[in-house]
Amino acid sequence: MKFLLSHLIRFKQKPASLKTEFLFHFSALAFLGFFFFMVTGVIQAQNLRVGAALRIITPNPLLPVSGGIGVPHPVTEKRGDLFVRAMVFEQGTQRFAIVNIDNLGWTSILGNRSRALIKGILPENILIGATHTHSAPDAYGFPDASGKSYADLAYLDWCVQQIADAVNEATTTLQPATLKVGMGEAKGKIAYNYYAPALYDPRCGVIQAIASSGPRMGKPIATLVNYAVHPEVLGNSRGILSPDMIGPMYQKIEETIGGIALFMNGAQGGMITADTRLTYVKEGQQQKEANNWEECIRIGELLATEAMRIVSEAPVLKNPTIYCTSRKLEFPIDSEIMRYILKKSPLKFVGGKENFVTTQLNLLNIGPAQILTVPGEALPNVGYYVKRNMNTKMPFLFGLTNDAFGYMLAKVDFNSFKRYEYVSQTSLGEMTAEIYMEQALKLVKESPKPQDP
Ligand SMILES: [Zn+2]
Repeated sequence: MKFLLSHLIRFKQKPASLKTEFLFHFSALAFLGFFFFMVTGVIQAQNLRVGAALRIITPNPLLPVSGGIGVPHPVTEKRGDLFVRAMVFEQGTQRFAIVNIDNLGWTSILGNRSRALIKGILPENILIGATHTHSAPDAYGFPDASGKSYADLAYLDWCVQQIADAVNEATTTLQPATLKVGMGEAKGKIAYNYYAPALYDPRCGVIQAIASSGPRMGKPIATLVNYAVHPEVLGNSRGILSPDMIGPMYQKIEETIGGIALFMNGAQGGMITADTRLTYVKEGQQQKEANNWEECIRIGELLATEAMRIVSEAPVLKNPTIYCTSRKLEFPIDSEIMRYILKKSPLKFVGGKENFVTTQLNLLNIGPAQILTVPGEALPNVGYYVKRNMNTKMPFLFGLTNDAFGYMLAKVDFNSFKRYEYVSQTSLGEMTAEIYMEQALKLVKESPKPQDP
């Protein structure tokens, strides 16, 4: 700046020869140009760019569907399509992807194969989460009692490619964006705790990227909804393949405000489920439920409407900052059932020590939001504990992300109530959630805080 000013002053004070004046003029202009380049270069490097894309992964012909351990159930019809949905964030040299897939759970065995096919994003910066629909093909290769598995490996290979294609396309559509980040209580009859009705987290977090230039300026590029619920309105025994309530949620958001909708589940274990109750539980009285596609539409559209309301009340963040980091997590496999599944599955779970699994834990800051991934179905109290110890007023948990190793209970809950027998059996062991909470909060401590809202 000083250099430039002295040039300009010399211009005024000393009328020089034409040649000298030209040289002065030229060097001042060149400097101005350079200065402008530096400033805009820096601003551009800090500008946020976001892209989004999707792929349909409905099998054709339809495949049996799996809601957990056991032989998948045959289907005769579909309600809605299954999707892979990807959102890519870029700022300066930092780039990461958030992917959601309509399935019960998506292991890192499959996720890592997609990561190897994705260009321009570090594998550890790719988060892949399952919606936990109970009406999609088996992606674990669950063995039956004889060790036989029924997963369609060709279908899973195709999904691996579709995930990579969706992320690669999202990267090619990166465009300057602003953000809106909101969090609030999703009101209405959406979720409840099947084991203890009021013990669930009603908070819905929403991250929306809005085009800040180009033909779609001011319109959403993508809207990501984070909410804890089991999408099992239809379940796996009705002969229907479906994204369940998440399908109508995507559709409602996209029809109403445009862009691409994503859904990342939360701490929905033991047992946060869709509120399909027609009559409330009375002691000893069998409760009635609405388990049909109309109920998927009702709940999905209500969640979409609530998510759009919550994000519409959030301010536009003109210069949001983003951050992505990851760690490896290791868990002992104490459960006999889990050992059997991992040993017999044709997906070949390989890795570290015997009877241990390793997985990827991610922490993201997106504007004022902080996000932690959870490699399974954390119980709601585990979710509350982690959220209130995060460095933000807007804590997001992406459940069933990067892996989904069954339920994650606090050690004091493990094998406690008779109600928890099933979730204890279908967890890796007593220490899974303990290790997770300790490691996840250590990562929070070691990471920068997200920006103030
Ligand atoms: Zn579940």
